[in-house]
Amino acid sequence: MGSIRDDFPLLAARPDLAFLDSAASSQKPRAVLEAMESFQETQYANVHRGAYRLSQVATMAYEGARKKVADFIGARDANELCFVRGTTTGLNVLAHGLAPRYADKTVLLTEIEHHANFIPWQQWAKRVGATVRYVPFTQGHRMDMAAFDEMLDDDVAVVSLTGMSNVLGTIPPVAEVAAKAKSVGALTVVDGAQMVPHMPVDVEALGIDAIAFGAHKMLGPTGIGAMWARAELLDEMEPFETGGEMIVDVTFEGATWSAAPAKFEAGTPPIVEAVGFGAAVDYLQGLGMEWVAEHDRELTAHALDRLLDEVPGITIQGPLDMADRGGVISFTLDGIHAHDLATILDEHGVAVRAGHHCAKPLMSCLGVAATARASFYVYNTEADIDPLVKGLLSAIDLFG
Ligand code: PLP
Repeated sequence: MGSIRDDFPLLAARPDLAFLDSAASSQKPRAVLEAMESFQETQYANVHRGAYRLSQVATMAYEGARKKVADFIGARDANELCFVRGTTTGLNVLAHGLAPRYADKTVLLTEIEHHANFIPWQQWAKRVGATVRYVPFTQGHRMDMAAFDEMLDDDVAVVSLTGMSNVLGTIPPVAEVAAKAKSVGALTVVDGAQMVPHMPVDVEALGIDAIAFGAHKMLGPTGIGAMWARAELLDEMEPFETGGEMIVDVTFEGATWSAAPAKFEAGTPPIVEAVGFGAAVDYLQGLGMEWVAEHDRELTAHALDRLLDEVPGITIQGPLDMADRGGVISFTLDGIHAHDLATILDEHGVAVRAGHHCAKPLMSCLGVAATARASFYVYNTEADIDPLVKGLLSAIDLFG
């Protein structure tokens, strides 16, 4: 049996490459690339428009992909899942659509959010007179649940938090947060960008109200993601974008909206990308999401051990133990800028990200301008950790 890496044409062609930047975007397996190509070669047409058979076949493929993605996150009804451009768009649609709910009230975020889960809420909060408050994290880089309990009161209308930090790797207790939020009548929105690709997710079991995630971090193509929300929320939310294919009627005076998901899918949707998204979900389900999470855990534990044992002067920005922690390791090295580290690692065939990771408020809490970040996915193995450690040791040699 071949390795998982062999399923990924780019990685198979580059045996020298340790690709440790899947938190930014993942590589694509042949199954996804072929599904998109074959769809374009044999079934392609616009969807929900044509009376002709080819369009109906394309529509079935598009709606089939919706069902696969909806099932993947345990949604009860595929119509609760709207295809959007990605996590960022999904969170913007939610912050906009839920604004009447939190007008003059409070939105609770956490300090560890990605900008995509900060700025939309801040922007809409300004417009509707809401207050945004930020739940701190503990010294151990976990969500401070005591502070959350204190901050959660009747004035809070929405809690929006990451399902897994793209910087620290921290996995907050989403189900506990959602249950507590519900007890004061608040909604829970989850930024699932790092969560959905890396662990089993069941939106009903978690008790959350909405989630957004993108295909490109979970083996699928760029340009498509999903926003799931409870049907009653989708009913009440105003669409963020308007235009073709999302209306019941249009007159010179105004328009009325179709039901979700069409209401949130104005214009021609990313049809080919939806087919790729469906194929990515099939591939992940073939591996099993329990296996994916366990693989991340084992590899991260191994990498943390090696980095802490073998690399002098390293500081890990994130939990050191594996409880509720995913496959992202951010680190700094005494006296060496993160960008220099990334450049030297590149010379050793190791691709990592360096910078603020679109989490500037978190960086200021950590007291660093930038970190280097290694992140793992299904195709990584312990063999990828060797050049990482070797590259870091040579950076230390170089910079003294
Ligand atoms: N949220 C988190 C936690 C992320 O890691 C990212 C991407 O890095 C995003 C949101 C934004 O995702 P996208 O750029 O795909 O919209």
